[in-house]
Amino acid sequence: MRGKIAHTAKIARRENGDITLIAVSKTHPADRIVPLLEQGHRVFGENRVQEAQEKWPDLRAKYPDVELHLIGQLQSNKADEAVAMFDVIHSLDRPSLLKALAKAMDKADRRVPCFVQVNIGDEYQKGGVAIGDLPDFLEKVRAADIPLAGLMCIPPAKIEPAPFFAFMGKLADANGISGLSMGMSGDYETAIMLGATHIRVGTALFGARG
Ligand SMILES: *Cc1c(COP(=O)(O)O)cnc(C)c1O
Repeated sequence: MRGKIAHTAKIARRENGDITLIAVSKTHPADRIVPLLEQGHRVFGENRVQEAQEKWPDLRAKYPDVELHLIGQLQSNKADEAVAMFDVIHSLDRPSLLKALAKAMDKADRRVPCFVQVNIGDEYQKGGVAIGDLPDFLEKVRAADIPLAGLMCIPPAKIEPAPFFAFMGKLADANGISGLSMGMSGDYETAIMLGATHIRVGTALFGARG
């Protein structure tokens, strides 16, 4: 995986170190995660607050420098717990959640960098800020003093993702943003070619989820 990432980065004329591999450990128990930790990997992604609370406090006690990313949708009533547990949140996607997270960060006196999720395929069933609403929403994020990590997307399933990744790059440029969370097991190389700074890879690292 590391070799493929480095090779793709080289083709794209990018620095390997500018690409963060988030090992998506959702559904996998601690004993599947430990081997990666032992190899020195420290950046992990989970998609549910409760699952992270069950798995990670023990692992963190042993590997305190772990960086935990929340990649799944977040309910506003879980904002406090998310701010306490995670180092980065990838799913900031609506004004109500923005308010809840800002409040939670004030209360905890802890600023958690957030990616703003963009509904890049304009899919009604998916989370994410509508493309047309993005500039306004980014303004609100900045006004709330939430550190902006970048933009995140999950492109539509079963169609070529490259045009969506390319468009994400344009949106990032247009808004003066450098962080781009995009690319999963099936398409991370494409995402790196098109500017991803954070790739979220589960299956290709851990095997299929049960
Ligand atoms: C599960 C998940 C991933 C990882 O998907 P794989 O195809 O297993 O690599 C990435 N991003 C999000 C938001 C996910 O929920």
